[in-house]
Amino acid sequence: MTQGLFDIKDSDANGRIGNFRVPRSNVIVETPAFLPVINPKLQTISPSELASKFNVQILITNSYIIRQTDHLHHAAIENGLHKLLDFPGAIMTDSGSFQLAEYGSVDVTTSEIIHFQNAIGSDIATPLDIPTPPDVSYEVAKLDLQTTSERLELSKTLVENDMLISAPIQGSTHIDLREKAASDAYALGFDVFPVGAAVPLLTQYRFQDVVNIIMATKRGLGLDAIVHLFGAGHPMMFALAVAAGCDLFDSAAYALYARRGSYLTTEGTKQLLEMDHFPCHCPICSTYTPSELRDLSPNKCESLLAEHNLYVSLSEINKIKVAIKEGSLLELVELRSRSHPAMLDGCKALFRHSIQLEKQDPAVKGTFFHTSDLSHYRPEIIRHHKNLSRFRIGKNVLLTTNTSSSILSNYGEVWYVKPPFGPFPIGLSHTYPLTAEIPNHIDINALQQAVAGISTLVSLHPQTTFTFAHENWPQLILETLPDAVKLINLSS
Ligand SMILES: [Zn+2]
Repeated sequence: MTQGLFDIKDSDANGRIGNFRVPRSNVIVETPAFLPVINPKLQTISPSELASKFNVQILITNSYIIRQTDHLHHAAIENGLHKLLDFPGAIMTDSGSFQLAEYGSVDVTTSEIIHFQNAIGSDIATPLDIPTPPDVSYEVAKLDLQTTSERLELSKTLVENDMLISAPIQGSTHIDLREKAASDAYALGFDVFPVGAAVPLLTQYRFQDVVNIIMATKRGLGLDAIVHLFGAGHPMMFALAVAAGCDLFDSAAYALYARRGSYLTTEGTKQLLEMDHFPCHCPICSTYTPSELRDLSPNKCESLLAEHNLYVSLSEINKIKVAIKEGSLLELVELRSRSHPAMLDGCKALFRHSIQLEKQDPAVKGTFFHTSDLSHYRPEIIRHHKNLSRFRIGKNVLLTTNTSSSILSNYGEVWYVKPPFGPFPIGLSHTYPLTAEIPNHIDINALQQAVAGISTLVSLHPQTTFTFAHENWPQLILETLPDAVKLINLSS
């Protein structure tokens, strides 16, 4: 990738806040960034308003539509894309692959569309890849990927004038193909890596599959790779996608949802027709009531609804940045997992990748809050269990859930057991993440994780005698401990 393009400032889980330098228009885009999709033929909110009113630094439009529409084609060649759209920020262009997926063919070649994107002044071009839909056979996905790879290689040789180029990562729902496609594209030195053909999964709310393909893509890429999620529509899933490692999103949802009277929130979608109150304080929602908005002309109503939808999307990106900065991104993900049952599946899928997340997750953050039955999956717990091998330990050790118990004096060495982490030397109680705030009534999965930690410690020290003093922990959980661990119930 182009040297010095991406400067990572903060990170949490796989999410990062970074500065993305877009050389052709000399713009620095702060990531995670939301790229509103601009239909060059139909603008619900004009690009100049996106810049002036919403502070949007980057947008995406479709170079294929511009190329195939005479007056747009001539204007774009004559005056450039930035003048055509009247937008001062960075402009990424798509290539017609979406039209290829929708209509089965497009009237342009790979070199023609790259030359065109260069000629109109695109900042980030996209090759004409093959967007393979989900669930196709392995053979079909592999053949499509072969064509995409050949086109990527060709496209890379055609780049001119500081234009950056993206490499859409395909492979359908076949995880190994996604990972291989990502590592091949990364080796070729592309600048941005969009996760391709995710739209059918996103529109069907298959967030679990989306997470799995993002994580596979990330495994194939270096840390400096900028990852883009094509068509990430709904703001309720932005935190999830960022935590999985996406830096850029594009979405037409703000406009498309408004067209059908839908009002976006981070907790799901509402219908303007059915609303009595707005749960939002953006400039639109604090100026109008739902009924006042409905009484406006259809065009005005649609455009104000699109503005609200955009405010919600951009405000969620800001919340995500705040969360990354303070190290609470996974807590935000847990909160968003309550927005929809499919989001719960998606968030669980992310936490199942905790071993992968742990590799990038910062060692120290703000206080760990155990806020849901997903918290015990967090990468901090995996890391704590890994770190157990670093400690020296004596011959006779008490592990206890209560450090003020009178039995402590009978033991030379005492470790504290705190769910969901498990055992650690008492001296570490004031270090991250062991300072975690946990509820008084913690769920059984968190106890299970703590017991898994004890089992790890025991297996590391076969010569040590361990006693575990607990307070009414369920038998079901205690039974999973190695037989050698002596048990004391402090509450009996
Ligand atoms: Zn609003």
